[in-house]
Amino acid sequence: MADLSLFSGEQIAALLSALPDPAFILTRSGRYAALFGGADSRYYHDGSSLVGKYISDVLSAEKAAWFESQIAMALASRGLHVVEYPLAADDVKGVGGPGPLDPIWFEGRVQPLEYQVMGEDAVLWVASNITASKKLEALLRMQSETDALTGLPNRRKLMSGLTEHFELFARYKTPTSVLIFDIDHFKGINDEYGHLVGDKAITVTAEVCRRELRAADFPARLGGDEFVVLMPHTGAGHALTISERLRLKIAEGLLDLGTLGKGATISGGLSEMTVGDTSYEEVLKRADDALYRAKRDGRNRIVLH
Ligand code: GH3
Ligand code: MG
Repeated sequence: MADLSLFSGEQIAALLSALPDPAFILTRSGRYAALFGGADSRYYHDGSSLVGKYISDVLSAEKAAWFESQIAMALASRGLHVVEYPLAADDVKGVGGPGPLDPIWFEGRVQPLEYQVMGEDAVLWVASNITASKKLEALLRMQSETDALTGLPNRRKLMSGLTEHFELFARYKTPTSVLIFDIDHFKGINDEYGHLVGDKAITVTAEVCRRELRAADFPARLGGDEFVVLMPHTGAGHALTISERLRLKIAEGLLDLGTLGKGATISGGLSEMTVGDTSYEEVLKRADDALYRAKRDGRNRIVLH
């Protein structure tokens, strides 16, 4: 604890207002009793106009209710309460001046005070701008779920999509189908035309999926020349029509690529989630078995399990 006798009252006030992050004293009823700091205008707007007002005067009813409930939770916990929330300057009436233009993500560290302020329980609410780390977090999450070559969802993202849709199927019995397909003789394409042309064939396949499938469908690259399309709200019969169209369109796309001579085809295995399934792995396994049969029976075809 600092020896406060070293500083005059004026100096302490100057120190508090020099703090880079804003620190609000908020009462239980949501009154801004005081504001210290917030000097870093790269990260914060000047909030001094808030002092004396109530949260409900300056924020929408929904946001104000959220802040009031967080104050109540901090007071009830009797310890540090940490929250994250987005807020833009124009969400808060009366706040302006220089500051960031985009909405800000804040981490609020809310500490109950041991004494009352203006006759009420109160908290110290320190707001820190965490927008940069939130953006980085979102970018990393996106990258970790995206296949770098095609931009399609990758295996990891596919597995979470399958888990989610298997749960929806188990609960609501909405028909859901899964297609797994693979480019025929892809090793030969790499050997004959080189890896870059092989990569191009993979990206063209992904583009055709994006173009031809409906927004609700979920194409993903499983790895190598293997893709999966999860089709929610789609029974096997309809899924077979979609898969057949996709097979033809991919073959057209690979032919239009021009560098592949006679072009290339795909083989696919299709299966629908059934009431007896205990996990998405079972439907994926059936589709994979059907793909194996499609290969064995001569390729360039879709087999329904
Ligand atoms: P099949 O008709 O039975 O599928 O025969 P295939 O030759 O396509 O056999 P398979 O699917 O097992 O071969 C996949 C090949 O894809 C093997 C691997 O060298 C190649 N491969 C995997 N990932 C990539 C990639 O990102 N780019 C390129 N160019 N090739 C890849
Ligand atoms: Mg293959």
